[in-house]
Amino acid sequence: MTIPKDDGRIQKLKEEVATDVESRKDHTQQMVDSIFSFGELGFQETETHRYVVDILKKNGFSVEEGVAGIPTAFMATWGSGKPVIALGSDIDGIPQASQKPGVAYHDPLDEGAPGHGEGHNCGVPLNITAALAVKKIMEREKLPGTIKIWPGTAEELVGTKAYFIRAGLFKDVDVALFAHVSDGLSVTWGDREGTGLVSVEYTFRGQTAHSAGAPWRGRSALDAVELMNIGWNYRREHLGLEHRSHYVVTDGGDQPNVVPRTASVWYYFRQTTYPKIKELWDTGDAIAKGAAMMSGVELLPTRMLGTAWPQHMNRAVAMAAHENIQKVGMPKWSEDDQALARALQKELGSNPRGLSTRLTAQLAGPVRDNRGGGSDDIGDISWNVPTITLRYPANIPGLPGHNWANAVAMATPIAHKGVTQGAKVQAMTMLDLLLKPELVKLAWQYFNEVQTKDLKYQPLLREQDKPAIELNKDRMKKYREEMRKYYYDPTKYKTYLEQLGINYPTVKK
Ligand SMILES: [Zn+2]
Repeated sequence: MTIPKDDGRIQKLKEEVATDVESRKDHTQQMVDSIFSFGELGFQETETHRYVVDILKKNGFSVEEGVAGIPTAFMATWGSGKPVIALGSDIDGIPQASQKPGVAYHDPLDEGAPGHGEGHNCGVPLNITAALAVKKIMEREKLPGTIKIWPGTAEELVGTKAYFIRAGLFKDVDVALFAHVSDGLSVTWGDREGTGLVSVEYTFRGQTAHSAGAPWRGRSALDAVELMNIGWNYRREHLGLEHRSHYVVTDGGDQPNVVPRTASVWYYFRQTTYPKIKELWDTGDAIAKGAAMMSGVELLPTRMLGTAWPQHMNRAVAMAAHENIQKVGMPKWSEDDQALARALQKELGSNPRGLSTRLTAQLAGPVRDNRGGGSDDIGDISWNVPTITLRYPANIPGLPGHNWANAVAMATPIAHKGVTQGAKVQAMTMLDLLLKPELVKLAWQYFNEVQTKDLKYQPLLREQDKPAIELNKDRMKKYREEMRKYYYDPTKYKTYLEQLGINYPTVKK
């Protein structure tokens, strides 16, 4: 595949847009730091929502709030006509990931509270900065086209993007440019390493009785949960090596002297293809039924809490973004940035190699031997419209993921520089799509003739499934007031580090 080259005008506009993105770096930093300080969990991103929607409205976007029946989801739109470019990025945090930024050891702001232990605080700021820089050029050059900005609400629960598709939010979109935090600057095309999944809660119902006085009269729903888990863990040995599955018990009964009438267990079933996900899910359902029979309890209708298709990225758009990545290059890290990275890596027992400084010259294609791994419900979007994920260098390599350590860099110069650099790439790729109609054509040609030739999207959602918008409500309520004390105030402090009085970097001697 060859994609159209930049002519002189496009080259100039790309240089201009990169300079403009750079000039917005203070605003970018304020957005990154503010969302970090909100530290909100999936479906409860209310402060983040209000903050981001305000910025978009102030900048001329019309914003539809509460889309797809999800209060903290929105679709912001500016411009008119084709192409329609949709910029997305995840926005939610991780339980118990509260952490002081810039400190290279575990030091929570608020013990037990959630925080940005994945780095989802910086992708939407990246998209906003890119969009504002491109919008300025579109206005001056009178370029037709529509920019949409949307949040990956509750991504940690893979809770919303399939519903966005179901609600038709991407129906008129030509290309989706997604961005996800990383420690390097890259894109890929084709099937990505990792998995899709269904996230399902099984609830059993038995009968209470006095646990000591008349246990024979009770039927324990908790027995069914335990037997389901035991059954699943035996079966695990006979499942594909690339699969991943895990569970938490969401209801284990009320108190020991009352035979548990209800009990629930929440499973993630991950596999690398749609049919394999369905098969894993069927296995889970069968084991749940068996557990109910053994325990003499009832299995209630299962509840779908989230889904994700495996991801497939568009070749033509990835090629364009890859060329822009080569132009932009990695950020210039300071000795302080490197010192923080090395100290955190040392603290975690990882190789203390510091931050990445180099790009990979080659654009990576489809995964060859997919050994499984994480998921992102951007997969659902990627099977409905040509999509890429830009991975940008805002975090430190060698971290465990979903952990306080992944929050350390996320309100420091490492994140700020990485986001600015990523926004340059995003803006340049937007210009490619706006100024080269041929590129959009090639993207759809790949989508129609290669990607979806033999495999078409079918939702994993069942008709009766609804967004699980009540998730995390109690947990967020428990910590919100305490967390509010730490919200970043950019009118008083230049950076969040300054507000918290943290010396950058703070490392163990
Ligand atoms: Zn993520």
